[in-house]
Amino acid sequence: MQIHLSFDYELFFGEASGSADNCILLPTQQLISIAKKHQVPFIFFIDAGYLWQLKNHYHIAQCKNDYDAISHQIKKLQTNGHEIALHIHPHWEDSFYKNNTWQINTTRYKLANFNDDVEAIITKYHQAIIEITQKPCKSYRAGGWCIQPFNTIKKALIKNNIYVDSTIYNNGVHTSNAHSYNFLNAPKLDEWKFNNDPCIQDIDGLFTEVPITSDKILPFFYYNLYFKMKSNPSIYKPVGDGKWLQDKKRKYTHFYSITNHFACADGFFASRLQSILQRCQKQNKNKMMVLSHPKSMAPYSFKALDTFISKAKNKNHTFCTITS
Ligand SMILES: [Zn+2]
Repeated sequence: MQIHLSFDYELFFGEASGSADNCILLPTQQLISIAKKHQVPFIFFIDAGYLWQLKNHYHIAQCKNDYDAISHQIKKLQTNGHEIALHIHPHWEDSFYKNNTWQINTTRYKLANFNDDVEAIITKYHQAIIEITQKPCKSYRAGGWCIQPFNTIKKALIKNNIYVDSTIYNNGVHTSNAHSYNFLNAPKLDEWKFNNDPCIQDIDGLFTEVPITSDKILPFFYYNLYFKMKSNPSIYKPVGDGKWLQDKKRKYTHFYSITNHFACADGFFASRLQSILQRCQKQNKNKMMVLSHPKSMAPYSFKALDTFISKAKNKNHTFCTITS
């Protein structure tokens, strides 16, 4: 099987954004070491709006330091053979840095909120990555999975020569003040072509979807996770120092019902990678796409990821980027 380990390279978007050091730079440095040890490439979906805003605030010492350190790390990721891909969180349009912190405004969280400006936003943010890497991205992932409706995003991606998406996960559905996506009808395939709707296969489609591998989680897992984080935070607590954007209505549903999730190395979720791989094999799948975040890695998950890669390599699975 081909295994894609992808990481959304970003701050938090809840009540506290967290610092570039703890949410991005330090955990990514650990990921670079794991990749080097095993000689495998990862995929980093860079929150390009953040780069754009850091550049806008370059006159502020902290933003200058963060921009310089982050662009240095992105160049290093590129030199080490990792894929640099485009991740768009358009709420950066409405957010700014003040009083030594990011004032995050998620009133307009999904791209669809930006109507006629979608193409300009995607192009401008993509340019912020190219400025660092001198190379256009080939793959896209929508911020907060909000890729629907696709028509305006489609035009912008064509203009930017991007024809591969990795946003969809099977059975994913979420409607809140911020989010809005519904993947219930997505094909149950390793990969498919599409044209106007990423959830509808079109063999003549311009775009390729490489979906995130889905996972179903029982309430017991979450009881276990919260117990572990409380009893042993130094091992199980994520390293990032910010707060997730929360949907208060949905917050506790995972304690009493089965929830649809995806393959993930964040925190204690990394404990599931091995069994997800086995399930994919049983289902004769050719690909496994894992979505994680440097900000949500915990000491436990770095270790679990390291073990997962060793075992998978021993069984001759390959780790690769999406578009190489
Ligand atoms: Zn994101």
